[in-house]
Amino acid sequence: MSRNIAASEQWKDALQDNYGTPGILLTKGKGTFVWDADGKKYLDFLGGIATNILGHAHPEIASAVSEQITRLGHVSNLYMHPQAIELAQKLQDLVGEPSARTFFCNSGAEANEAAIKLSRLTGRKRIVSTEGSFHGRTVGSLSITGQASKRAAFYPLLSKVKFAPYGDLKSLRKLVNRKTAMVIVEAIQGENGVVVPPDGYLAGVREICDATGALFVIDAVQTGMGRTGEWFGYEHEGVKPDVITLAKGLGGGLPLGAMISLGSKVRTFKPGEHGSTFGGNPIACAAANAAIDFIVENDVLEHVQWAGKYIKESLKTIPGVESIRGRGLLLGVVLKSSQAVELSKICMHKGLLVNAPNKNVIRLAPPLNVTKKQLKTFIEVFAECIKELPHA
Ligand SMILES: *Cc1c(COP(=O)(O)O)cnc(C)c1O
Repeated sequence: MSRNIAASEQWKDALQDNYGTPGILLTKGKGTFVWDADGKKYLDFLGGIATNILGHAHPEIASAVSEQITRLGHVSNLYMHPQAIELAQKLQDLVGEPSARTFFCNSGAEANEAAIKLSRLTGRKRIVSTEGSFHGRTVGSLSITGQASKRAAFYPLLSKVKFAPYGDLKSLRKLVNRKTAMVIVEAIQGENGVVVPPDGYLAGVREICDATGALFVIDAVQTGMGRTGEWFGYEHEGVKPDVITLAKGLGGGLPLGAMISLGSKVRTFKPGEHGSTFGGNPIACAAANAAIDFIVENDVLEHVQWAGKYIKESLKTIPGVESIRGRGLLLGVVLKSSQAVELSKICMHKGLLVNAPNKNVIRLAPPLNVTKKQLKTFIEVFAECIKELPHA
């Protein structure tokens, strides 16, 4: 019997069913490839959902982590350790603001929780988010997530949260006022199907926040760490937010999140106001430092911009593809038909991992250091898979 099938049975008997039961048991990864328990090889163009920014088992991340765990694995936040300082300094440089101050946590939801708590310290209580957004699954982050289906079973959530249509500044302006503590937006809505707002949107949000005194929070959990060909996904608009939240790619595949505040408008946390036992753990920080060093030293952001254009150019002529949206290596392939879920299954069968965030979009989030050869393989296999769709 297939070990994948045997594992599915064991999974069902021991784990909660919140993810459904995944079809394959992965046991090995190297670069842009993973292998399942039956030995089948896959080209991984989802990258742990935009998380494995340098692929699997990257030698520099692996050695940084191994070295760190043999030296000092965990200290709590009662003590300093060099890796957290180094990483916070690196983030400060990348944000380009000496005023940037980082709080470390372990996930995107926690980073957004920290942002919510920080915004409460303004004395204001109201939050404005966007329709279709995704900010996490904890009660606070779910409260600011603009997807009714994810929220429905869990009321009451935080009150005083309103949602404006994404990309629509006019509606946003109507909802944000002097009682608004924060406005939170993604630079690209990843979970909603890689939805890109119109040019000028982030600059417009900045203006609305400046006019009302609301904090401008950018959830860069998915778009951050070079994913879009920029460090945090907002730079092309020439704006800076008051708060940036990060996770996914930050730890180079290890669990790590961050909430960074910057500028003079935000007051930072004071002793006792927030915390996290594992937040800023030395091993996760060592991995993040190694990943950032590699990206900087190898001009990976330029490669991401090039690779994103290469995929867009190559896919646009493929029958069945309506358009390709996104930036850098966070791309949504919009299909002419609503068969994205079927297509993602065909791809898996043919040894290609992608996912369908909704019924007509395939999301691509390969490692940032994906090679040209792997891009070519991807285009070939993906085109073959589309041909197999019943109503392409
Ligand atoms: C994935 C994601 C989150 C939640 O991150 P977790 O680590 O799963 O809690 C929040 N915001 C955005 C934009 C995300 O893509």
